[in-house]
Amino acid sequence: DFVKRKKPSWLRAKLPGGPGFQRMRAMLDEHNLHTVCSSAKCPNLGECWERGTATLMILGDVCTRSCGFCHIKTGRPPEYDADEPRRVGETAAIMRLKHLVITSVNRDELPDGGAEIWAETIREVRRQSPGTQVEVLIPDFCGDWDALQLVLDERPEILNHNLESVPRLYGVVRPQAKYERSIELLRIAKAQGLTVKTGIMVGIGETDEEIEQLMDDVVAGTRVAGVGRSNAATDVADHHLPPNPNRGFDSPPAPGKSAHAVSGAARPDAAPDKLKRGGSHITHSNPHWHHPGPTMAPDMASRVAQISYPQASYPGVHETCDILTVGQYLQPTRNHLPISRWVTPDQFAEYKRVGEAKGFRHVESGPLVRSSYHADDQVLQMQAA
Ligand code: SF4
Ligand code: SF4
Repeated sequence: DFVKRKKPSWLRAKLPGGPGFQRMRAMLDEHNLHTVCSSAKCPNLGECWERGTATLMILGDVCTRSCGFCHIKTGRPPEYDADEPRRVGETAAIMRLKHLVITSVNRDELPDGGAEIWAETIREVRRQSPGTQVEVLIPDFCGDWDALQLVLDERPEILNHNLESVPRLYGVVRPQAKYERSIELLRIAKAQGLTVKTGIMVGIGETDEEIEQLMDDVVAGTRVAGVGRSNAATDVADHHLPPNPNRGFDSPPAPGKSAHAVSGAARPDAAPDKLKRGGSHITHSNPHWHHPGPTMAPDMASRVAQISYPQASYPGVHETCDILTVGQYLQPTRNHLPISRWVTPDQFAEYKRVGEAKGFRHVESGPLVRSSYHADDQVLQMQAA
């Protein structure tokens, strides 16, 4: 049938092998680091490594989950390597990386899902390579939002968590994940002023209508009252933002300048120090916070736990999920989910147009797009949007 035919021409990627590729491989071997590029058989490996970019994969190369599209080994992972964060930091420093993407396998057997190692890894990059922007592509920590908070507290420049596919297909695409839980994760990160990103594959069984609904779900589900472009007239003086040592693209207010705290009850189980951030209840009338937007699918709206989380407004921060990536699913082996269709470049361009019209700040959409594909350029385009 159609999908068994040769890959269309737009999916031919560069073969690995140039000098940049060799340098990258030597560096990764020397530091004993895994990448998702090779573990997941990414088609862009030749191009990305040649240009000096790779996505480091921490916490080992064995995952406790078994997503139907993913080439990474499933099983019980060995003990994690406590020295790994230091080596990641060292690699970022030696390679003088401007932008580093870090991801991990899921470690559902660990009490915190590996969150502390995640946090330590970000700290090591900050310490050894302060000029490097950190993009994290994180797991859902089984919905343990205290574990998530350990990562958020390190204020990565980009917080990425992929939805991967539409909810109807979760049973086969991401059997151990939950669509609404992943959107909730993005919402919590957005509520704390982070630049938030998510991504999906197409050609794995979804329809275009379902993709549009997913876009609506993300835009509506991550819109948090109080996170949006603020203006001086509505700033108030009693809320202090979590420390962001600056490197963000969307910096929090300058010292001495304050930000909004709105709709504020913190989660009932939050630790006292988190409660402090929860802030006051202030009413306001900034139109950015009330403009009509898409609505979530009703079944999802009823399932998303509307945890009231510490919230603040950050000038210049986009009010919903910032970046969406859309790429063609490629079946890594015959044992993985089949490809349902080859999406054409024109259709990818349409996803971009529709996604940006719905409220994403930047949509990176194309056959070979992966969430970490030209991640540094994605950020530049987002900033220019
Ligand atoms: Fe690695 Fe991402 Fe490039 Fe693929 S797109 S090779 S995962 S950096
Ligand atoms: Fe692969 Fe799923 Fe594990 Fe992520 S959680 S590494 S996509 S099997």
